[in-house]
Amino acid sequence: MSNNDELIVDALETGVVKDYNRLIQEFGIEPLSDVIDAIPESKQHIFMKRGVMFGHTDLKQVIECINNSTSFAVMTGIKPSGQYHVGSLTTASEVVYFQQLGGRVSFCIADIESYVSSGLSFDKAAEIAIDNIADLFALGLDPNPDNTFIYSQSEEKLVQKYGHIFSSHVTLNTLKSIYGEKLRVGYYNAALIQVADILLPQIRWGSMPTVTPIGADQAPHARLTRDIARKEVFQEEFKFKLPSFTYHTMLQGIDGSEKMSKSVPMSVFSMDEDIKDIHKKINNALTGGRDTAAEQREKGANPEVCRVFDLFKFMFESDDKRLTLRMNQCKSGELLCGPCKKDLKQNIEEFQQNHLEKKSQMIELSTELIRNMKN
Ligand code: SF4
Repeated sequence: MSNNDELIVDALETGVVKDYNRLIQEFGIEPLSDVIDAIPESKQHIFMKRGVMFGHTDLKQVIECINNSTSFAVMTGIKPSGQYHVGSLTTASEVVYFQQLGGRVSFCIADIESYVSSGLSFDKAAEIAIDNIADLFALGLDPNPDNTFIYSQSEEKLVQKYGHIFSSHVTLNTLKSIYGEKLRVGYYNAALIQVADILLPQIRWGSMPTVTPIGADQAPHARLTRDIARKEVFQEEFKFKLPSFTYHTMLQGIDGSEKMSKSVPMSVFSMDEDIKDIHKKINNALTGGRDTAAEQREKGANPEVCRVFDLFKFMFESDDKRLTLRMNQCKSGELLCGPCKKDLKQNIEEFQQNHLEKKSQMIELSTELIRNMKN
């Protein structure tokens, strides 16, 4: 059993990954490079080519569905806590990608988890969810209910029912070894509800491959879900295909902090934020630049540790050739941090204008959807 100091990641609270290599070994994450060639290059997500999506569990069965146009599901969700921030765009982009390749989306509003971890009321969670779902529609999630089933944990009886049923097939020691020692049982309950969320597409729609794109910090949920899905009793009842997962690295705090966190405002920005405030955060970002312009021109800089470069790589540069050019010019000293930040601010501004315009057209639909869920 792990004590909390030994945990590689605390999936239920901090979400900080202490050691990626140990995480990969301990949770049996396979390198994405093992399967990527099975996806035609024209269909590969830019995160696959850029190493942002670095690993997978059992993705082959989903790739077969993509290549043979057979049914598969995409499971995802949001934990309502506030405005949709730039770090969340990574998962959204992957979900939209798998949906466009034929996946039917099951989308969970994790309001029970928000209640447990942040004490957020269900009404407040619903209000935040309206805004977040409008962001997701603006990012390309298909609002057609045939293609995207959206529900909240507090209203969906099946996830509550199976969360309870699954809990009677897991020991407290197993939960402690995966998630560490938690003082409140609610954390473990929320984890079991999440297992039900991930298996819900197969409970509702029948046995089929399911992919859940997650940040590396969520790997413990993948393990618990697969352990439960493979139990004989559930195999007999549902014939679950063991759920597949893709894993992406996490955007770290713009200001140099380990993690993007709303409690550290300079580490993160949301798409709704005043552009002047976003500019200030980019100006303050941690870079891999040198102390002086002269030194940087002579020795070059280091994009590997630069949070400005990360933002280009994750979200704000869609063209691979331009990204490589920026990396090379940074390393050679041809590009200085001032002009590089200016480019980023311009790209974010364009993205934001386009996004907010689309989002404004989606608020009404999102409001109606969440209100109907409560009726
Ligand atoms: S030139 Fe750009 S990518 Fe390179 S260290 Fe400076 S800000 Fe980062």
